[in-house]
Amino acid sequence: MNRKRFLITLLAATLLLVSCGPTVPKESTDASIVSSEASTMSNESSDAAVVSSEASTMSNESSDAAVVSSEVSTMSNESSDAAVVSSEASTASNESSDAAVVSSEASTTEESKVFPPRITLSGNHDDHVITDQFCYVEGEKYFLLLDKDVDLPGDFGDNVELIIDEIEKLTGYTFSIPSTVYTCDNSTVRFGYNPWDGFDFGMKVPIYLYPDRESKGYISSASSEFMNLQLYELYSNDLWNSVPAYRDNPWRRDNYVNYETVAHELTHVLTCRRTALTKIMTEGCADYVAEKVIKKLADVTGQYDFVESAARMDLSYHVKNEVTAENAEEVFRNDYSDLSTIERGDEYTLGRMLCLFLEEDYGASSLHDYIAAVANAGYAYPEFLSDPSPNDINKMTDLMKTTFGNDVFTKFGAWYQTHKDQ
Ligand SMILES: [Zn+2]
Repeated sequence: MNRKRFLITLLAATLLLVSCGPTVPKESTDASIVSSEASTMSNESSDAAVVSSEASTMSNESSDAAVVSSEVSTMSNESSDAAVVSSEASTASNESSDAAVVSSEASTTEESKVFPPRITLSGNHDDHVITDQFCYVEGEKYFLLLDKDVDLPGDFGDNVELIIDEIEKLTGYTFSIPSTVYTCDNSTVRFGYNPWDGFDFGMKVPIYLYPDRESKGYISSASSEFMNLQLYELYSNDLWNSVPAYRDNPWRRDNYVNYETVAHELTHVLTCRRTALTKIMTEGCADYVAEKVIKKLADVTGQYDFVESAARMDLSYHVKNEVTAENAEEVFRNDYSDLSTIERGDEYTLGRMLCLFLEEDYGASSLHDYIAAVANAGYAYPEFLSDPSPNDINKMTDLMKTTFGNDVFTKFGAWYQTHKDQ
């Protein structure tokens, strides 16, 4: 399957959210603005899209959150004050009529807030956990926040931990930023009902796995606060077979866990927690890091899922319009902001190649150094949380020259010409 990506920038009030995912239908590629919630994306097309939308796409109107059954075990994130989780309460706080409501007599105070239960994974690939309610897995550096109908192999959590460790090693940055504690409120969940409201994540990365159970085209995404994964291979068979758009299109589902997507989105979390970046660098470094991390883990572990993830990466080396020594700086300053002229997905390809070039010519710490330079220039989280303006992009372009030399773009353009056919 030709898996293309696209970037969707959701500018919510307080967070920058970047995402990538499968594809959008051919017929929708003319639209320059696509709502991530409204569009129904099929995997038929070959064009990835660059789309943007307002924060309103994160509203609750299309929620289809699952009902939490009343017999689930009760558990509190921080305290032992257990209470009954009930699906019968009717004080829905959003517009969705089918969003579930969890209520408990003790839910009015923070310390007695009841959260879905914690589960553990065996660590063995062949063991599967199929969720039938909201629940969570806690790792050393992450939380997996699960809806029902998720099918996780027993080694999924361990593999996420491996990916996090490799990303930290490669970039020289940690996910945790001691001065920051990430909590979760309703604005940080895309799909409506949020059983994790008020959950204390500490400095760990919250990773949501909420199946797109109506095939609305939800895609994997990330921000400084959290990430969410839409991996069809992690949907339960029961869910898959109950949705015609899935059941009748088995080719949409990989027969391996696509850890490249996990690594790509995790890299977004890491960089977003440090600084804003241009589109080219945001997507480029996510693909660059994912490629290196997954290939390494494929080599080191030999695991089928890592090997397949590495083998199926979409590592194209061509962008629509030529990038040369003469125009490379201009391309970077434009940052593919003109939707009418770019080949969708070019920012991924060119950005990845720029990172490869920087590593080759300026050393393994080049990406780390550039991120530090941009963060130090005033774009660091949490002070700066929006898409860079054209003026910001110009400053970020100048920082590339300050960090690596005035000839960095001419050298890159020449390098690109000799590497694009590899
Ligand atoms: Zn991305």
